[in-house]
Amino acid sequence: MNTYRPQVGVLALQGDVREHLTALRASGADAFAVRRPAELEDVEGLVIPGGESTTMYKLAIAFDLLEPLRQRLAAGLPAYGSCAGMIMLADRIADGVDGQVTLGGLDITVRRNAFGRQVDSFEAPVVLAPFPDAPFHAVFIRAPWVDEVGRSVEVVGRVGAGAGEGRIVAVRQGAILATAFHPELTGDHRVHALFVEIVRRQLKGKS
Ligand code: GLN
Repeated sequence: MNTYRPQVGVLALQGDVREHLTALRASGADAFAVRRPAELEDVEGLVIPGGESTTMYKLAIAFDLLEPLRQRLAAGLPAYGSCAGMIMLADRIADGVDGQVTLGGLDITVRRNAFGRQVDSFEAPVVLAPFPDAPFHAVFIRAPWVDEVGRSVEVVGRVGAGAGEGRIVAVRQGAILATAFHPELTGDHRVHALFVEIVRRQLKGKS
């Protein structure tokens, strides 16, 4: 078994950074917060946390991180985004605020706050393709869903029942993974473990 602990950064501009650091460390990564362009240099994988994408994109610009992040992602840096992180990784946003930009990398159209105001937050079982035997207890907080996916995007999970039944809430395109829900809040580390494995494979492919 490959036990190398990859260097995984968590974008720490805003959002639930600490929970991701904990989940990553429990999943075999060396995890640290990234706030400055220089801190990006050693990163072998990047997590973009949940939070508020309309704030996060502005901070990315203010901290001179937008372009360096776009360049690393375009060059193949593995990334995982949860909720607002999924929005940051999307190539296209529906219901963004005026002027909202993303880092891109995922050929999807993501719809912000898609589940509507009546159901701000809810929990629902979601079966993810890599883990067919046990559904995820998925926590959605003013979550997006994915309206459209490009041809090279794999749909990894959909809402199983209740509000938004059948909507796409987990996707993967190569080394980029995103979920509309927050596995970092539940103590179920399967998504983080999958991401750490994606990072290891990417490094192996390079060496
Ligand atoms: N609604 C938030 C946004 O648009 C995402 C919420 C979340 O990350 N929990 O960024």
